[in-house]
Amino acid sequence: MRDHRHGSHRGRIVRAMLVLPLAGLLVSADPYVAQRERMVREQIESRGIHGAELLRVLRATPRHLFVPIASRSLAYDDHPLPIGYEATISQPYIVALMTGLLAPRKTDRVLEIGTGSGYQAAVLSQLAEQVYTVEIVPELAQSAGRILADLGYRNVTVRQGDGYKGWPEQAPFDGIILTAAPPEVPRALIGQLANGGRLVAPVGRGWNQQLVLIEKDANGRIRRRYAGDVVFVPMRPGGV
Ligand code: SAH
Repeated sequence: MRDHRHGSHRGRIVRAMLVLPLAGLLVSADPYVAQRERMVREQIESRGIHGAELLRVLRATPRHLFVPIASRSLAYDDHPLPIGYEATISQPYIVALMTGLLAPRKTDRVLEIGTGSGYQAAVLSQLAEQVYTVEIVPELAQSAGRILADLGYRNVTVRQGDGYKGWPEQAPFDGIILTAAPPEVPRALIGQLANGGRLVAPVGRGWNQQLVLIEKDANGRIRRRYAGDVVFVPMRPGGV
């Protein structure tokens, strides 16, 4: 009896010796965990965004895999980054701010205009039921589609096309988010918003842009609110 207990104790030690280095290996397999944690704490929580589910998703999403390899070390810094084709991946805080304003629920179908890197779509996919995202640059639509699929975000559909038209076949949407700035909110997109839905967009020209939140109530009435100044790449006119 004694010997048996002694043996099992030793077994536990041996198992712990095997398990501990393995756990260490798993943690170090993503060297960006600490950077993400700092990003969330210093850039997002500190600026007043506290939604637990949103913060959890930002901690879990490997932003460095959505930027060009040469920029990986900058992926979690407090600014946007160029991703080619005159596009940028938005600053982490802006992604958090806009996602917070959109406030997607687990049952929502969301439309994004301006897929870019696919990072915002990846964040949304973990908070909503389905994400449809439209990108005008074929190469970006293709590379974003590939990385989203590789990382297993299965509820995102990417399409190359003109965001001014939205995605009529899949409308209406509970949420619509634009990550390129049109001079005015396109009418077609307001039309594709469900009653009770929310649309978030940077609106304006050049350096003179504001973040707009449009809410459509149960009767289809529109309310518009402004949520601060922003700078986004302009939304290209359709067909260009
Ligand atoms: N949400 C992106 C940010 C993309 S930057 C991310 O998480 O990385 C804005 C994107 O909008 C660019 O990729 C640009 O090519 C795209 N875009 C510009 N005009 C567009 C249009 N008319 N329709 C669809 N996409 C457009």
